[in-house]
Amino acid sequence: MKWTETETLCSHCTKPIRKCKKKKQVWKQLLNNSYNAWLLRKTRDVPNTYGLYCISANDEDEILYIGYSNRSVRTRLLAHTGGYDRQKIGEFLKGEDLKEFSISWVNEKKAECLEENFIDFVTLKQGFRPRFNLKRGRSC
Ligand SMILES: [Zn+2]
Repeated sequence: MKWTETETLCSHCTKPIRKCKKKKQVWKQLLNNSYNAWLLRKTRDVPNTYGLYCISANDEDEILYIGYSNRSVRTRLLAHTGGYDRQKIGEFLKGEDLKEFSISWVNEKKAECLEENFIDFVTLKQGFRPRFNLKRGRSC
């Protein structure tokens, strides 16, 4: 893995991404708002609005996937966990016990711009790229 060797610059503040205040702030929010994936269908807590979201595995404490929706985080997460998603993360979660996974989200308007830079940021933080972020995310 060569991710940590190259210094990616933030497309917004042009600092190295690990020094980007915005990313640090979003990261903190995602870590602090961990929510059991099993509750997604049981409650209305996950909002029908734009944002960046994250799916992680509880036992490994591993971030599996970072995504964004410019319309509804809720709809996207329902798809990923509903068994009908054609993306790899959806195929992986199919038939899994959702209680073993966590989701979190941040209402962030520039989420589509943040996505790829944020995946790079998470890659630095956890030491490897989220397993199910196979394609490059969007960036502006
Ligand atoms: Zn930045």
